[in-house]
Amino acid sequence: MKNTIGVYGLGVMGSNLARNMASKGEKVAVYNYTPDLTKKFTSQHSSLHIDSHYDLESFIYSLESPRKIFLMVAAGAVDSVIQSLLPLLEQGDIIMDGGNSDFHDSNRRYRELQKHGIQFLGVGVSGGEKGALNGPALMPGGDLESYRQVAPILEKIAAHVDGKPCCTYIGPEGSGHYVKMVHNGIEYADMQMITEAYQFLHEKVGLSMQDLSEVFSSWNETELESYLVEITADILSKTDQETGKPMVEVILDKAGQKGTGKWSSQEALDLGVPSTIMTEAVYARYLSAMKEERVYAEKHLAGPSLTHEKMDTEYWVNLVKEALFMGKICAYAQGFYQYQMASRQYGWSLDLGEIALIFRGGCIIRADFLNKIHRAFKENKDLTNLLLAPYFLEKTNRYQSSLRKVVMKGFESGLSLPCFSSALSFYDGYRSSRNGANLIQAQRDYFGAHRYERVDQEGIFHTNWLEPGAIKQSVKADS
Ligand code: NDP
Repeated sequence: MKNTIGVYGLGVMGSNLARNMASKGEKVAVYNYTPDLTKKFTSQHSSLHIDSHYDLESFIYSLESPRKIFLMVAAGAVDSVIQSLLPLLEQGDIIMDGGNSDFHDSNRRYRELQKHGIQFLGVGVSGGEKGALNGPALMPGGDLESYRQVAPILEKIAAHVDGKPCCTYIGPEGSGHYVKMVHNGIEYADMQMITEAYQFLHEKVGLSMQDLSEVFSSWNETELESYLVEITADILSKTDQETGKPMVEVILDKAGQKGTGKWSSQEALDLGVPSTIMTEAVYARYLSAMKEERVYAEKHLAGPSLTHEKMDTEYWVNLVKEALFMGKICAYAQGFYQYQMASRQYGWSLDLGEIALIFRGGCIIRADFLNKIHRAFKENKDLTNLLLAPYFLEKTNRYQSSLRKVVMKGFESGLSLPCFSSALSFYDGYRSSRNGANLIQAQRDYFGAHRYERVDQEGIFHTNWLEPGAIKQSVKADS
């Protein structure tokens, strides 16, 4: 009997996905570019009866038709791997790329492979190595008919919440990788805002790591319930074995990144949508990486010094909790708006309610909160922005003042709160019917004759700003 699926790539993710598939009853073939990983995998997991191959031909020919091949390799290797597979494949075979590939590449691969009669699915995978083993969130994009052929396998290995798999067909071409990319942007924002809450309560209010662990633990029993809040509580409770200090205090404050958050922000700029919070989170990581300069600048640049003052702990803990929830709502509102605009731009017909549902399990941003987003889009298909859905409207009306107070207190104390303050600026900008862009339009018309619209007349106008009395003599330009 032939194998039902082949996994190419036995790194951290590929090996765990192969084990996940085998444990769910699939007949799995595996192959890795270099034999060492295959040998290691085979010796460690012999009980799973996975069919290991050391040459590509035997791997491919061991698969039933149409062949289903799941690539889990470094993003930079996908094109060369596809080229090596092509001579061995037949019309109708399906290649799935589960790596963190750029969605533009997935669009291109989808089109190029169609010319060869090979189907391509770009599958966003979230959940890290544990998710890959126990059930990730999967975001497959590409040809719908091909998805139907692999759906029984993907839906079986995905995480399940309330009996529903955290895997659904996302849309054509590279839409699956797009959804994964913005998911990561939202994840950056979520992580940065949790960090700002932690910093405020530690640096300003003076809570110890143990106190903070308890605070995050208690927040995890509220509307803030989420995987990231849960692991933060756990992280803050850990002690370094060597020094006896809290673990977070011995970890250098330079944040790394692999690029998907940056891609998400770049794409937001290209689309012309204000995904400001995730972008601030990317910048915050860049700024964190400037450690040596920051150490030098601290000694030379003036500002309020961060001293603990006598503060009502219970009051501020509650305020920061509400500020965090308010910031989170704004970040998800931006992320889902980006999905909406990308869907329109690329003609993908993304179902935002279903996307929220698949994020509920397996992935890093999983949270109870996603049920509310699902409901908001199910109740109103034409919803333009999450902030306007009844649940979120009620919450933001109650919590906006908490975010305001935390940002003001933090700024007054010299604390950098890039995502909290960005969320507040976005919120205030979004709810303002007039915002000052009239002056920008006037400046653009003044120096570049870029023209402007008026509030009281239809048409496009230009003013000869340097002529005496010109402002009164706005001329209607050709519209
Ligand atoms: P690893 O570094 O553990 O594994 C990389 C795999 O790619 C190895 O099997 C490696 O084989 C293979 N590879 C590298 N270069 C080539 C090449 N030129 N030709 C063929 N194969 C090659 O990475 P992960 O398993 O962590 O990640 C794999 C993909 O999944 C990446 O795109 C990553 O961004 C994505 N991802 C990772 C997540 C995570 O939490 N780690 C979560 C979600 C997605 P060899 O060792 O023989 O070189």
